[in-house]
Amino acid sequence: MNATKTIIVTGGAGYIGSHTIIELIETTSFNVISIDNYSNSTEKTFDRIELITGKKIRNYQIDICNKTELERVFEENTHIVGIIHFAAFKSVGESVTDPQKYYFNNINSLLNILDCSLKYNITNFIFSSSCSVYGNIDELPVKETTPIGKAESPYAYTKQIGEEILKDYSKANSQLQTTALRYFNPVGAHVSGLNGELPLNKPNNLVPIITNAAIGKIAQMTVFGDDYPTRDGTCIRDYVHVSDIANAHIKALYLLIENKNKSNFSIFNLGSGNGVSVLEAIAAFEKISGKKLNYQIGQKRDGDVVAIYSDNSFSEKTLGWTPKYNLEDMMRSAWKWELELSMLE
Ligand code: UDP
Repeated sequence: MNATKTIIVTGGAGYIGSHTIIELIETTSFNVISIDNYSNSTEKTFDRIELITGKKIRNYQIDICNKTELERVFEENTHIVGIIHFAAFKSVGESVTDPQKYYFNNINSLLNILDCSLKYNITNFIFSSSCSVYGNIDELPVKETTPIGKAESPYAYTKQIGEEILKDYSKANSQLQTTALRYFNPVGAHVSGLNGELPLNKPNNLVPIITNAAIGKIAQMTVFGDDYPTRDGTCIRDYVHVSDIANAHIKALYLLIENKNKSNFSIFNLGSGNGVSVLEAIAAFEKISGKKLNYQIGQKRDGDVVAIYSDNSFSEKTLGWTPKYNLEDMMRSAWKWELELSMLE
């Protein structure tokens, strides 16, 4: 039994989960316990966390959809003061081809962990949401109050449903304080270059594809469409450094723990506030790496929204959070991580 106040991080071996654990270790005195079944991650991530912070993290390798197993974590650990729930499937494309996998896992795991929050009286709960809840939207930049559109994928729908579940649970159980953090496009790696995104399968996201192309794992990358109604014809996104995202979780957690939240269900946008096109992202990478990327212009990708970026003013004002890394920092750290991985292979 550990008497230090403990934070449970589900999906602690994942991309944002592991960076948030590093931030929790480096900036708070909480004890951290992870729950991760390594379905899309590896236990080696905990060695990386230890390398960076000097701390060994205890991980329960269990599936959160298994309620009996999950309850064991809460029976074995007292003094839990908060839960940060990352664990979920997150590939938009896969959710279209295998919706049952996404609905079953993302919803059941959320219901189970929320039931544990209620049963074990853990009142501070943070949920990973996504800007994909906004759907295709004309009004830019998006604010938390912007009405959400139709979900463009089962993945996005699980996040919309997840937010509704939190809202209803918090309304019916006034002790339960919940926060949904809507991530825009988290990219980059820890500044040390020792921890970063590690897709077990082929990467689908732009920045890992850029670094893969630069190192030669991919012969040529494709820019998905250049005739969108944007300044250079390519899609616009809001890229934000993963360590900034991690830091926002600490701020959101303290807001709940210190009872400074105005409502017991809140939503925050986590973006950089800047729209960046695919070609601009490529140019930023070429600048920091000194490498010319081999890319071709290809077909549009199904389901891509033309442009989305965040209005961060509510997060800045309420959480006191401003991203500190810019686009070049994001690319520099992502490239450092790719080089680190290439040395290990
Ligand atoms: N993209 C691209 N080529 C790739 C991967 C992504 O042109 O190989 C584009 C994609 O069409 C989108 C942007 O990069 O406009 C960001 O894509 P990502 O999958 O990283 O994020 P999301 O679309 O989920 O916001």
